[in-house]
Amino acid sequence: HSVYGVEKWGKGLIEVTEGGEIGLRNPLAPEAPAISLPGILRDLDQRGIRAPMILRISSYLENEIAHINESFAAAIARADYKGCYRGVFPIKVNQQAQVIDRIVEFGQKYDYGLEAGSKPELVIALAHRLAKEALIVCNGVKDAEFIQLAILSRKIGFNTVIVLESPKEADTVIEVYNELGIEPLLGVRVKLTNQISGKWEESSGDRSAFGMNTDQLVAVVDKLRDAGLIQCLKLQHSHLGSQVPDVNDVRRAVGEACRYYTELTREGVPLTHLDLGGGMGVDYTGEKKATENSINYTVEEYCANVVETVAYAMDEAEVEHPTLVTESGRAVVATSSMLVFNVLESTLYDAPNGPEVEPDDHHMVADLAAVHGYLSHERLQECWNDANFYRNELRALFRRGYVDLRQMARAERIYLSLMARIKALVASEHVETDVDDQLEKLADIYHCNFSLFQSLPDVWAIDQLHPIVPLQMLDQTPDRRAVLSDITCDSDGKIDRFILADGVSPSLPVHTLPEDDDYYMGVFFVGAYQETLGDLHNLFGDTNVVTIDIKPDGGFDLLHEQEGDTISEVMAYVEFDPSDCVAAFRKMVDEAISTGTLKAKDRKTLMSAYRDSINGYTYYE
Ligand code: PLP
Repeated sequence: HSVYGVEKWGKGLIEVTEGGEIGLRNPLAPEAPAISLPGILRDLDQRGIRAPMILRISSYLENEIAHINESFAAAIARADYKGCYRGVFPIKVNQQAQVIDRIVEFGQKYDYGLEAGSKPELVIALAHRLAKEALIVCNGVKDAEFIQLAILSRKIGFNTVIVLESPKEADTVIEVYNELGIEPLLGVRVKLTNQISGKWEESSGDRSAFGMNTDQLVAVVDKLRDAGLIQCLKLQHSHLGSQVPDVNDVRRAVGEACRYYTELTREGVPLTHLDLGGGMGVDYTGEKKATENSINYTVEEYCANVVETVAYAMDEAEVEHPTLVTESGRAVVATSSMLVFNVLESTLYDAPNGPEVEPDDHHMVADLAAVHGYLSHERLQECWNDANFYRNELRALFRRGYVDLRQMARAERIYLSLMARIKALVASEHVETDVDDQLEKLADIYHCNFSLFQSLPDVWAIDQLHPIVPLQMLDQTPDRRAVLSDITCDSDGKIDRFILADGVSPSLPVHTLPEDDDYYMGVFFVGAYQETLGDLHNLFGDTNVVTIDIKPDGGFDLLHEQEGDTISEVMAYVEFDPSDCVAAFRKMVDEAISTGTLKAKDRKTLMSAYRDSINGYTYYE
């Protein structure tokens, strides 16, 4: 099982059990044994909850919230920092009620707050009773209604900060203030010029879409001062982009943010909070390197770097240490969800036994079969070349009508039997040729019960890598290699980059599918961004979502079940009225009865088949 590198990326949460299954460990009870993930699926299956599903582990979320808050507290104590830490969770990273409710619950003791990037997100934030000192930070473009709601919410005890993104927004705030006569809590978003590396480098630097340059910043300060509101400007915000790979980029950006903070303070702006945005990454590959899907720091190191950099800059400028705010989203939720799906069938690119040559076979079919006679380790490359040559020639002959369908089918079978022997030779001994690399293109296709577009949109859109492993049979050597294809009718709906122990590979080692058992795959660390970025390609809807907690005794509690979308629900998203569709179908059934093509007694079966489909899951059942 070490081929999958679970030890490398599993973060001590995911491991392989002695029984060869993927096991989940409870970070809050580190002594307890890992609980089998396929075991959880078997149990859920008995309760009628089937894959594909998102499985959320409540204690993983609790653990991450504690981890970040306690790491900041430890760094603050170590550096003798005079301010405190008040994190906020950016709702956009996972807006699901089950997640937000739990984040608010687990965050109470840390005065953990929420970040809202839009009016709907503010509405969600305001429906939660946060701790007294917790913040709601409002980013994004805001109209008068948004600003009014944010200001009024202060009256019921929320510390709602309106972060000004532009001088125009400052004008709107001043207008709303003049109408309401209630002072707002304000922030300013500055655009840092330091650019970070990684997938999100365009979120940072001069050309980033958000935040104000120095000129706009000065204009806003002057406007607020003129309007008599400068005393409300308490927070300075900046955001680097997501998944920052290199901790030194964090340090540089924090240093630059501190320059703005100390300069604004010198100008007489009474700032108290320094908000450094999101960006703390997740080590998806477990490489511990500054690469696109990994990071070169731990949570502890990130926190220490932030605290030390701010302490140093503030002391230099003789400015009081501010309250530190970060808006980490990905690092808080990514690990707590996994996607689980079953493999439906496989298309194999080799076959054990080819047919024997027959007297009236086309001579090229005989030539192809003859390769079997001289296939050896020494002549591997030659045999590979010959097999491909004869098959391509036969395909050309078939297209022109010189070889018939049955002959072509025999040729393909012979070719696949050669591939089986070639694969076995390559697997048994080291080869000096490029046949090894060529064989990657002949990986099997495992057809899986999920939609890439709905459940893993970043894998499709930005080549995000997530660890993917079979959940069972890990005590047996995988005997095949495969790419994974989803059930959308789209050739883009496939996964062909996998994290393995020795690097990224275009195919995944897998087992021959068991005859009478499910074969499950797990995709890990999908808690951030994937759920709401997903779309309805081919009308595959939300999967089932199950929230569980792992108990110290090795069992689990089912905390919540959200059934996935039904077909009628996804129809409604695209403006079809399911009852209109039933009526239209019924009309055609009745017409068929009156014209005699359908018997009246079959009406009931036909109507219930249509109705059952409409009320069912969008995935393969
Ligand atoms: N804050 C702001 C303003 C953002 O735009 C984002 C997302 O990019 C975040 C916080 C969350 O970032 P991350 O998930 O990388 O922590």
